[in-house]
Amino acid sequence: MTIRVVVIGGGIAGLSAAEALSRTGVFRRAELEVVLVDSRHNTGGRAGSFVEPTTGQSVDYCQHVAMGCCTTLLDLLERMNLLDHFQRFEDLTFYHPRHGFSRFSPSSWLPPPLHLASALSSLKHLTSKNQREIRSGLWRLMRTREAELVDVTALDWLKACGQSEDTLEKFWDVILVSALGDAPDHVSMAAARKVLIDGFAGARHASDVWVPRRPLSEIFGERFREPLARCGVGFELGHAVRGLSWDAASGQWDIERSGADCLKADHVIVATPWHVSRRWFPELWDDCSGQQRREDVERADAFASSPITGLHLWLDRSLTPMPHVVMVGTLAQWFFQNPIKSSEPTPTSDGVYHQVVISGRHAGSDWPKERLIAEVVRELSEAFPEAGVPQVLKSRIVMDPHAVFSVSPETQVRRPKSTTALSGLHLAGDAIATGWPATMEGAAISGQMAAKSVLDSVLVGGGEQVAFSEELKRGWLARRLIR
Ligand SMILES: Cc1cc2nc3c(=O)[nH]c(=O)nc-3n(C[C@H](O)[C@H](O)[C@H](O)COP(=O)(O)OP(=O)(O)OC[C@H]3O[C@@H](n4cnc5c(N)ncnc54)[C@H](O)[C@@H]3O)c2cc1C
Repeated sequence: MTIRVVVIGGGIAGLSAAEALSRTGVFRRAELEVVLVDSRHNTGGRAGSFVEPTTGQSVDYCQHVAMGCCTTLLDLLERMNLLDHFQRFEDLTFYHPRHGFSRFSPSSWLPPPLHLASALSSLKHLTSKNQREIRSGLWRLMRTREAELVDVTALDWLKACGQSEDTLEKFWDVILVSALGDAPDHVSMAAARKVLIDGFAGARHASDVWVPRRPLSEIFGERFREPLARCGVGFELGHAVRGLSWDAASGQWDIERSGADCLKADHVIVATPWHVSRRWFPELWDDCSGQQRREDVERADAFASSPITGLHLWLDRSLTPMPHVVMVGTLAQWFFQNPIKSSEPTPTSDGVYHQVVISGRHAGSDWPKERLIAEVVRELSEAFPEAGVPQVLKSRIVMDPHAVFSVSPETQVRRPKSTTALSGLHLAGDAIATGWPATMEGAAISGQMAAKSVLDSVLVGGGEQVAFSEELKRGWLARRLIR
């Protein structure tokens, strides 16, 4: 017997689901046939790149970084032999216009979470009062259960535990906007706890930064597909799914596509972004708690999006040998020197490539492109005065208004699970209830959860299934951070 599983959406969630299913092969005489479909001609979804027309250079829509605590993603990349396309950094450099540069370098001998304490005290822009407040905030956060934080915003919680405006601005805003993609007055404190306590503070290398050294379209494109195709996963790219319907007569899903035949599937994993999946199955997204009436949900505007802006700058010179800098007290939030993809800046005929990332809505959100670039370049020349004032040879701004979903308290309680009440229908994607904010890690976890959901419903109680579930569980819980 063949069981056909169609994965809709080839972002990291869909790829992760296909990878997990491809490891299963044949179970109890049932052979899994896995087909992944995507409207685009490449996989990777939001973790992708565009081709710069003049140079043919692949440039990521926006620089992505993973942290050491993203163990499911890192394990997945390792299994696909792709981890060496990422470079690991144990230290981070912070910059503040009034205090210059400082290194955030976690202790290599203190046990977690104390290993972060000395790193914190080396940040020059934090006064001793800031540091005291941060330590006491983190300590209290560690002792508060996630469930108690779900319906409170980070800002309300942080203010209630005595964080001053100055500490909020210099520390919490910076960390939370970078990690959660939205401002502390919008995000749930539970999501903040997940990243800060379960994530960064959880293990010695959890705060390491992993930066891709190849274009994302390559890592999550051809290179990811090749080994999956060798394991029998089929890819049908370039046709958008228009809708799904359940065919009661055959007991299968019909998947309608534009420009291609309708596909039949015993199981479907919907791994599209939340705004697409929610259009198809509003009942799964808007009332998963079963407590709220539809009008309340709409009023609450759950699953609002938050933007991320990538400024791509080709300058007439290299500004610094530093590969990346976290910028505090400036419009620019993260600065990357030539992230694609070597340690040496490589000038092309267009100049030396740099990228600045700004997450969430910001002071320059409504400015014309020229003003935003001029302001960011001014900040960069103040930060790196020894390089002189750079000329911008070419620039491009990529602003994705639906970059990530906003992990508000309203959203956190409504994120659906992978297993749904609809027969043969499973959900994946970074907005699924993984506890994680919209990240590559959340997407990778959701894919593994959706694969497990398929196997659970296909192979109830089988010995092989139990073994597979255990393997997946180990993947999620792994704190194998000694790399
Ligand atoms: C600008 C930006 C910066 C980011 N920075 C980081 C970062 O530094 N670190 C980090 O961890 N995360 C970052 N993220 C978040 C990360 O990219 C996402 O969380 C993750 O890639 C989501 O993967 P996904 O598979 O859930 O969704 P997606 O990547 O959105 O994949 C969904 C797929 O579904 C396909 N699809 C949609 N509609 C249809 C249809 N009708 N038919 C067929 N296919 C369809 C799409 O083409 C897409 O390939 C960033 C995101 C953005 C946008």
